[in-house]
Amino acid sequence: MFSVAMRHPFVPAGPYGLHIGGEETVSGGRFEAIEPSTGQPWAEVAQATAADVDRAVATARKAFQSWRHSRPAERQEALWRLADAIEAEPERWARLLATENGRPIREATIADVPTCAGILRFFSGLSRDLRGDQVPVEREETLIYTLREPLGVIGALIPWNSPIITVANKVGPALAAGNTVVLKPSEFASPSVVEFARLANEILPEGVLNVVTGYGPEVGAALVAHPDVAKVTFTGGTATARKIMAAAGEALTPTIMELGGKGAMVVFDDADVEAAVADALLGIFMANGEVCVAASRLLVQAGIHDAFSERFAEVTERIVVGDALDPATQFGPLVTGQHRERVSAALARALEEGAVARVGGGVPELPAPLDGGFFVSPTLLVDERGETSASREEFFGPITVLERFEDEAEAIARANATRYGLAAGVWTENLGRAHRVAAALDAGIVWVNKWFDMPVGMPMGGVKDSGFGRELSAETLHEYSAPKVVNVDLSSARPELWG
Ligand code: NAD
Repeated sequence: MFSVAMRHPFVPAGPYGLHIGGEETVSGGRFEAIEPSTGQPWAEVAQATAADVDRAVATARKAFQSWRHSRPAERQEALWRLADAIEAEPERWARLLATENGRPIREATIADVPTCAGILRFFSGLSRDLRGDQVPVEREETLIYTLREPLGVIGALIPWNSPIITVANKVGPALAAGNTVVLKPSEFASPSVVEFARLANEILPEGVLNVVTGYGPEVGAALVAHPDVAKVTFTGGTATARKIMAAAGEALTPTIMELGGKGAMVVFDDADVEAAVADALLGIFMANGEVCVAASRLLVQAGIHDAFSERFAEVTERIVVGDALDPATQFGPLVTGQHRERVSAALARALEEGAVARVGGGVPELPAPLDGGFFVSPTLLVDERGETSASREEFFGPITVLERFEDEAEAIARANATRYGLAAGVWTENLGRAHRVAAALDAGIVWVNKWFDMPVGMPMGGVKDSGFGRELSAETLHEYSAPKVVNVDLSSARPELWG
């Protein structure tokens, strides 16, 4: 099924520029932003140079000298007002996001704006709680305490999926802790980040948040290698992460890495099949499957495997694929033609290796203007033994693979047989088994009888090749600050050592 809306794409007022020192500039080169639903250009974005990156870092460094000493209440109020500003125009944001990366507008409306604002409000509160500690010591004449200090200029690099949520995940804690930021959005989702910067720069002091747009290997690489960047925070693919860590290592700059995943949902015979299928569908097809915590593996125990498969396939066949701007659309296009090629190649490889497409497995035929869009059909693969690359590699698209298992030990061993370790899930009514399996799965997040619930406050991050560092939580402030020890002598007495 498909739908075609009366099209009302987001129309920008002009090109999207760099933000340095509170000013937007579009003086240099530009590149086009392409709308995924149609494949047509819809906005122009400034292309930064290495000199622009240098200027942005110098500006952020200067702004750090005063922002680091800002009162907690000042940072709290700035982040709170920024959340208010984001929430003021939810429909405008939803249309912009659906035009920009193809996320269906019904999801962009309920997910992106409230989540972004919620994260900013959470870190707004934490601005008041950046605190050091007192160290217990044996010697009475010694007092040791720590001050929590911001690090300096944070270089933040983000992907194209959920751009304003990811911006909030970086900017919220970095600014709350008193750092300043130079942010490099994805070349495939820059307008929303520039719109975010426009609102932020109405509220924040000059130079506290700077945005440099452009391509990763040029602008991103210049930011990562910059000697005045105190920490690099990256969300994106594992292959890019290796390059970034090599460059950051050369500059001795620490990093936070939020990377890809291969989320295994493990469903036992005693699970509520209806509920498990409903969450599996949400887990893989929300945001067109372009989600790091997607349920991209479904390991189902033999006794309910066929019923699960039947129900999942039946709903998948009915999903309404279409224009991301149409409120009736349940499933939109992938972000770019290049990404569709990547996903299609990975799918072809899995099919060649022996996986079978139970539903989907190709490109849907859609009428103009959607025939120029980057669509892939929602796909259910079957690979009962989990032996193909579909069970190990991230598609970052709407493809999940159904596997069959016999017992708990086999389920755990197979779920863990991937380099990734971001999200996983266990479905069972057996309390002991739920906790045993949750403890045994290699993942930063394990959901029990649910998928996709990520309330702010919950530490978010991965293990193994899914990265390190935790976002979304109180401990995130520690990623953006360092303890300074103050060791005080409380007496003037000295031992007689030198006569
Ligand atoms: P990507 O790695 O291609 O790009 C991410 C960012 O890095 C972009 O801004 C890009 O311009 C920049 N970049 C690319 N090459 C660079 C280089 N050599 N030096 C410096 N910067 C460079 O990722 P993507 O395709 O935009 O996003 C998809 C990936 O992101 C998936 O693997 C997904 O799982 C992951 N992701 C992870 C999380 C998480 O929280 N763990 C969240 C969202 C997405």
